[in-house]
Amino acid sequence: MLFSNINGIHKKKIVLFTHNNPDGDALGSSLALLFYFRKLKHDVDLISPTEYSEFFRWLPGTDNIIVFSKYTQSIIKKKIINSDYIFFIDFNNLSRINNIRDLFLYSKAKKILIDHHPFPSCFDFMFSDPTASATSILVFRFISDMNNLSKIDKKIATCLYVGLMTDTGFFRFPSMTSETHFIAGKLIEKGIDLNYIYDHLQNKYNENRLKLLSKALKKLKVIKKYRTAYTSIRASDISFYSYKQGDTEGIITYGLGIKNIVFSVFFFEEKEKNPIKISFRSKGNFDVNIFARKHFRGGGHKNASGGTSEKSLSESIEYFLRIIPNYYKNLCFPFDITSVT
Ligand code: 5GP
Ligand code: MN
Repeated sequence: MLFSNINGIHKKKIVLFTHNNPDGDALGSSLALLFYFRKLKHDVDLISPTEYSEFFRWLPGTDNIIVFSKYTQSIIKKKIINSDYIFFIDFNNLSRINNIRDLFLYSKAKKILIDHHPFPSCFDFMFSDPTASATSILVFRFISDMNNLSKIDKKIATCLYVGLMTDTGFFRFPSMTSETHFIAGKLIEKGIDLNYIYDHLQNKYNENRLKLLSKALKKLKVIKKYRTAYTSIRASDISFYSYKQGDTEGIITYGLGIKNIVFSVFFFEEKEKNPIKISFRSKGNFDVNIFARKHFRGGGHKNASGGTSEKSLSESIEYFLRIIPNYYKNLCFPFDITSVT
């Protein structure tokens, strides 16, 4: 029903939403769908609740992204109310687009989820698979299920490939499957320029970003007993180093690079008085999705999650240090100890 409507001759109004601070997979999967639906001659808009990182500006189609926080609200409201279909891409809970969620109450559009995070809320149509290593995999399956793989051109393939690469840490994370490689192969067959993509996705540091990283590394604390490392960045640090969105990307991975550390945490005070944003990464069986949900109103995946705290930066860290001993067993005696190196 959904497929025949979208594949049919009638032009539909479609709105695509991705999540706050969209990452490579959120942007890659939603830009791919934007191009795909345009090829099917639908009227499509792609909305991001907040600005995306400059790092991804080179992706095909970014000029089409409507940044909600910078756009005329009444126009966006009209688009939502008049739409036939609204797609929610790479997130599964409307709390992740907090500033927009009420607008959906006014729309009769069918609401469709395409996402790979666990524990989705309910939507009219759900393409949800938490075992998929990226939402871009689900977009590829979606197009394949519509028998439209021939519609994937170089631009769509580039966007999907970026989604695969960034959500799997360049094809390395435990979420990798043979399907990820299979789809990557199919995308390469579409003529994408691998060198160009890799070159843009290599971590590029300008002087300020490197100094911000150095600040975070200096503050890195290791709690050997709990196999945990954590660090933080203050609002004053980021104003000093003329922070741009995305500059803290990657800071969290350094903690996990330390031998025997299985849990890395990054506290980020982006603006004074705003909630503290916290990122969690783990190796092996320690489930940071559950941890973030339980203590920091967050979520994500088993090995990569995030959340927020309304407390001050130092109080948030103190709270974290108070609860971490409760996880001694999970951190130090993971069920599958062989998967931790
Ligand atoms: P990051 O640390 O890169 O911001 O986020 C890592 C993962 O955690 C992302 O894939 C995202 O899905 C999830 N995540 C980050 N922040 C939040 C949050 O505040 N709420 C929820 N539910 N998930 C989050
Ligand atoms: Mn994703």
